[in-house]
Amino acid sequence: MQQLYKQQSLKVFNSLSRAKETFIPIKEGYIGLYVCGPTVYSNVHLGNCRTFMSFDTIYRYLLHLGYKVRYVRNITDAGHLENDADEGEDKIAKKAKLEQIEPMEVVQKYTVDFHRTLEQFNLLPPSIEPTATGHIIEQIEIIKEIIEKGFAYVVDGSVYFDVQYFNIQNNYGKLSGRSVEDMIANTRELQGQSEKKNPQDFALWKKAEAKHIMRWPSPWGDGFPGWHIECTAMSTKYLGEQFDIHGGGMDLKFPHHECEIAQAEAKSGVSPVNYWLHANMLTLNGKKMSKSTDNNIYPNELFSGQNKLFSRPFSAAVVRFFMLQAHYTSVLDLSEEALEAAEKGYVRLLEAISSLATLEANDSISDDSELHQWKQRCYDAMNDDFNTPILIAQLFEGVKIINLLKDQKRAISPSDLELLGSTMNTFFFDVLGLFDEQQSNTKQLDQLKGLVELLIKERNKARAQRDFARSDEIRDAIIALGIQLKDTKDGTTFSLS
Ligand code: AMP
Ligand code: ZN
Repeated sequence: MQQLYKQQSLKVFNSLSRAKETFIPIKEGYIGLYVCGPTVYSNVHLGNCRTFMSFDTIYRYLLHLGYKVRYVRNITDAGHLENDADEGEDKIAKKAKLEQIEPMEVVQKYTVDFHRTLEQFNLLPPSIEPTATGHIIEQIEIIKEIIEKGFAYVVDGSVYFDVQYFNIQNNYGKLSGRSVEDMIANTRELQGQSEKKNPQDFALWKKAEAKHIMRWPSPWGDGFPGWHIECTAMSTKYLGEQFDIHGGGMDLKFPHHECEIAQAEAKSGVSPVNYWLHANMLTLNGKKMSKSTDNNIYPNELFSGQNKLFSRPFSAAVVRFFMLQAHYTSVLDLSEEALEAAEKGYVRLLEAISSLATLEANDSISDDSELHQWKQRCYDAMNDDFNTPILIAQLFEGVKIINLLKDQKRAISPSDLELLGSTMNTFFFDVLGLFDEQQSNTKQLDQLKGLVELLIKERNKARAQRDFARSDEIRDAIIALGIQLKDTKDGTTFSLS
């Protein structure tokens, strides 16, 4: 792997300093990257997908630069209470009750959905995907240390972080720009309603009431971890007490990430993360897409066209392209016109890239330094805090050159043609993670062909024996493979649905 990072100067917008900074990893050539994963109590909507796609593109570029990246993205499968608060029901336990299944069945169902959905958008899997329930012991150990250091207190089986005490020596609120004094001034609480010393304090461990099903033994009695402690436990376990990049959606800055900083600083005395990166929200009708307000759309509804918002389906590659046309720190609104424009752009780029193989170089032409400058401009775009819209604009400059070559209005040297092709391909497929849907569909169909033909034969046999229950069963199995059947008088044909 080439160490391209030695030639490129990457700058990232650090939410902590509110400035663009030159990126310098703790250990040269290596990067520790942590991204908060989903709470697996429902299907992921397109807004969630945008955040994970933003970090996938960042991960891809870091890999492309030749860094060895350890990418940790967790699964929140316990401890996330309703309204992100310290009171209320666990989101997963609530869903389990509603669906009358085990909480771990809820977790399994939506973790599988999460993986399938991200795969459709061509996201790379992280290096480690730890779960909160798999790290209860680590969370308890950190809570014990925080108590020992005086930054947390125990009340009737629960443990709370003492924000005001922490703030005497440290700065609680430095990430979100809030001050504890303002928080105190703005909170009104009726005396005696909470067991916390102060309303700003947050739970590290909560006592499980008798009806709470998700519970673990601890030094403070049966209970469950607070939402924020899991990310401190899992990030520092796999990436060390100080690591390079922590990411997540903008809405996690406060309280989640602020609390993560406080917990880690209370435990080890050092700031855990060098660069905090926050991805901005996908909106629908100008409002944040969200599970709780029902202002959302699920990827499959968009791919199938079965929804009330759009007049026709849009594919996963087009949606990925649409997302990348905005910078990850900008708000992006989903609309039919924007998706249509993205579709046109995606098709234009892909057609140009596909035609590269038909272009011929001219031996008598010398190299053009302009092409090298263009390639560097592609890098400059990504070096400038992963500016994908500028990169895409540069790729369209490449399309212009390809079209001139196609129309024989320009000639190119062999090495420049190689540079043009490799730059277009590398940025389109490897860095932006875009893909040729047509080609992947053909490949998928090829892989399934033998199996589907066998199933069709079995179905025909069942039909001939008038065993319609069996033939329907086989048809359903074929449909579940994503295949649609067409019965004609000449036999049965099939295609991807
Ligand atoms: P959750 O499962 O609710 O914890 O959310 C998973 C991730 O999706 C978090 O990083 C959120 O910040 C992110 N997220 C939630 N809603 C949106 C949205 N409308 N646009 C972009 N990211 C979002
Ligand atoms: Zn987190």
